[in-house]
Amino acid sequence: MRGLIMDRPLLISSLLEHADRVSGDREIVSRSDEGRIHRYTYHDAHTRSRQLANALTALGVQIGDRIATVAWNTHRHLEIYFAVSGIGAITHTLNPRLHPSQLGYIANHAEDSYIFVDTNLVPLVEAVAGDLPALKGVIVMTDKANMPTAKIDNLLCYEDLIDNNSDDLVWPEFDENTASSLCYTSGTSGNPKGALYSHRSTIIHAYAAALPDVMNLSERSVVLPVVPMFHANAWGIPYSAAMTGSKLVFPGAHLDGASIHELLVAEEVTFAAGVPTVWLALLNHWRETGTRVPSLEMTVIGGSAIPQSMIEAFQEDFGVAVRHAWGMTEMSPLGSVSIVKPRLDSASNEEKYRVQIKQGRPVYGVEVRIVDDDGNLLPHDGEAFGELQVRGPWITSSYFRLDTSEAHGADGWFATGDVCTIDPDSYIEITDRAKDVIKSGGEWISSIELENVAMGHPDVLQAAVIGVAHPKWDERPLLIVVPAPGKQPTHDDLTAFLTDKVAKWWLPDDMVLVDELPLGATGKVLKTKLREQFGDHKLPTA
Ligand code: AMP
Repeated sequence: MRGLIMDRPLLISSLLEHADRVSGDREIVSRSDEGRIHRYTYHDAHTRSRQLANALTALGVQIGDRIATVAWNTHRHLEIYFAVSGIGAITHTLNPRLHPSQLGYIANHAEDSYIFVDTNLVPLVEAVAGDLPALKGVIVMTDKANMPTAKIDNLLCYEDLIDNNSDDLVWPEFDENTASSLCYTSGTSGNPKGALYSHRSTIIHAYAAALPDVMNLSERSVVLPVVPMFHANAWGIPYSAAMTGSKLVFPGAHLDGASIHELLVAEEVTFAAGVPTVWLALLNHWRETGTRVPSLEMTVIGGSAIPQSMIEAFQEDFGVAVRHAWGMTEMSPLGSVSIVKPRLDSASNEEKYRVQIKQGRPVYGVEVRIVDDDGNLLPHDGEAFGELQVRGPWITSSYFRLDTSEAHGADGWFATGDVCTIDPDSYIEITDRAKDVIKSGGEWISSIELENVAMGHPDVLQAAVIGVAHPKWDERPLLIVVPAPGKQPTHDDLTAFLTDKVAKWWLPDDMVLVDELPLGATGKVLKTKLREQFGDHKLPTA
């Protein structure tokens, strides 16, 4: 027997329509290219999204067309999110930090017909536009006065499109399983692969992300997503914010500590989300200037493991609660969040940090399991580690325009490529990407755990650990350190520091100092680059 409930489709346009109706006066603040602050409301955003939707329809955009963005987090990017998906086309966010050849590969693979681009990123699009046969035009996200010149056919002005179209539009209704947005994985090996989300998956994910034990969003929240809108839709924050009517604060292209701090203070931000590398810059700014942000209650940090030293700094020095989250582009991206369970309220600080540095417990909607190399299920005892597999209503079932995918198993589970343990309380602890695991004498050493502990040393700013070939043990860990300003830590210093914190056989055989770590387009340390650079390093123990 079927339930007697209306079959209303879950569509992305309904989020902005709702925000306009119910929280229409809530503000959306955005830093422009030029550093100016733009301020308007959900009501205004909805009006302009409808104008833009009409403009796109007039340009001939049809349901299913891929419309790309090469843009920072701004109010215009938000309008595009809703206008494009709202008419059934697909918002394809391109990462401006990619090399032009990779950007060209992705735009061609997706066959993007229009590209929206921020003014300061026009040269990037200019470099590839001639090699994109499906491209019909490029829309610069600015007004007439600031239109750049570029060798691009059919270069259009965003504000002209808005001005020339009315907001007279009733959002069309279609099947909630229709594709809504597309984001390619960072692709550290092989070509980038497209995760194609649907309206339904986006809305269910938006509900989950807003929950109290996830991002805890409400109309009272003032949210600053530092995580880019080109990285898994800024973890879904634009959708969850519209759903709850949260005030949104967009940082534009300015992600340095001082600029972020200024916005956090001026807009009285309560919640911010970002990757560890960006937060490192903010923490440094706070330390150097002796400032803090009284309104900031909580931050969700994910994308890479966070060291305990970062959680301690936020919580103890600056009064900001930290939630460590794990996810993937293929998972929309939310997978798990680490919060201390009520049962552990009376535990010691050290025990609580042990929980906080884990990647957390699955959010409702995400089922998890771990398997060994032969696909056998492993127990959730906090000891056994194997590959993490997931399934759920916002996890991709295959890649866009790819016939086969090893990661998408026939039994309906997605193999994440992350190696982890899961404890009896369901806390996941990622030890490595499968390809980064260090195999020493048949046992595994977790590079993430070593990095985490090493970053607790006061003379260490950042640390990475890779496996280097060893004649006796196959591989042994090499510690690569970016020293704190003015410091020169030695291998002996770090060995002494690590000795009582990790197993003796985990202690790195050697250490090198570097000025910086190579970062990928989404702010993750590129272990592949480090292995190219230091793979032949001669260990003193070899
Ligand atoms: P992406 O699809 O670019 O967001 O990358 C997803 C991958 O980033 C995951 O499969 C993990 O390897 C890594 N990752 C994301 N969040 C975390 C985290 N909190 N701790 C460790 N690794 C993470």
